[in-house]
Amino acid sequence: MLIQENIPLGSKTTMRIGGAARWYMELNTKQDAEYAYVFAKQKNLPLIVLGGGSNTVFADGIIEALVVRVKYDELNTATRICVGAGRILASLINDLAEKNLDLSPLTGIPGTLGGAIFGNAGDGPHGTWIDSYVESVEAFVDDSWKIFTKAECKFTYRESIFKNMNSPIIWSALLSAPSKPSAETIAEIDRLIQKRIDTQPHLKTAGSCFKAVAETPAWKLIDAMGLRGKKVGDIQIAEKHANFLLNTGKGTFDDAKKIIELIRENVPETLEVEMRFIDEKGNMVF
Ligand SMILES: Cc1cc2nc3c(=O)[nH]c(=O)nc-3n(C[C@H](O)[C@H](O)[C@H](O)COP(=O)(O)OP(=O)(O)OC[C@H]3O[C@@H](n4cnc5c(N)ncnc54)[C@H](O)[C@@H]3O)c2cc1C
Repeated sequence: MLIQENIPLGSKTTMRIGGAARWYMELNTKQDAEYAYVFAKQKNLPLIVLGGGSNTVFADGIIEALVVRVKYDELNTATRICVGAGRILASLINDLAEKNLDLSPLTGIPGTLGGAIFGNAGDGPHGTWIDSYVESVEAFVDDSWKIFTKAECKFTYRESIFKNMNSPIIWSALLSAPSKPSAETIAEIDRLIQKRIDTQPHLKTAGSCFKAVAETPAWKLIDAMGLRGKKVGDIQIAEKHANFLLNTGKGTFDDAKKIIELIRENVPETLEVEMRFIDEKGNMVF
């Protein structure tokens, strides 16, 4: 079990912003997770759980916390589909496709299975979300291992019970996936990837910045206020998709925060931030 000090975080997030974690650890075993929990508790530090970093932005200084990255990513399909939360979602979708199992509606969502479960990742309010495939989730919560049935996960649009807990570590999940011939699923994956490339930026972004407001996609509200393409420092509201922020160079945490404030001041509807902003004390901003 290796806890490291002063580990840069920018390269561990897709937005490529952020300073360093005062303490950092990669979790490969359940014992690692238990150790991290005790370490953070003894030092009275926030425990920040990171998956693929595709929805997270860290402050630029030293983050006074223990940041852990869930790496456990075993996939076992012998009898049921049992997957480690650190598995990259795209690789899971591809591996299951080879086994004639279809998770293709989740194509194009970066990050890990754990991150996807935490935020019930998927299409917009009426699309397919990961909860469609979840049977149960194992997580380390408040010093003990627990299994959550799908009902107990309380999934709704971009929400799960895990968002209301204090630093849960989602460890693995049992999934179910419909059977479909491999070639059909692979063709659908290719189609959906192309659609993403055509409609969304995919470099130095953290994906959708705000949740949809009722039926209206956030990008429409931002666009209606003429904010598409606007910049604060090196952070830009993407031309390709007005709900995506881009780091066009040396964007900072403060620039990203300021652009959120600018959008919120200009859009009359209340916009709920979907990306996770972590300040130097390890607290969530917004
Ligand atoms: C180009 C692009 C397109 C995107 N498109 C979509 C989309 O279509 N739909 C969508 O829903 N999202 C989308 N996103 C956002 C993002 O990819 C998803 O939210 C994804 O599920 C985050 O996974 P992650 O592992 O990267 O999470 P991280 O950014 O690492 O973490 C996000 C949150 O999940 C928690 N978390 C992560 N892993 C665990 C774990 N094992 N245990 C407990 N908590 C954990 C973290 O604590 C944090 O609060 C997109 C992002 C990008 C960059």
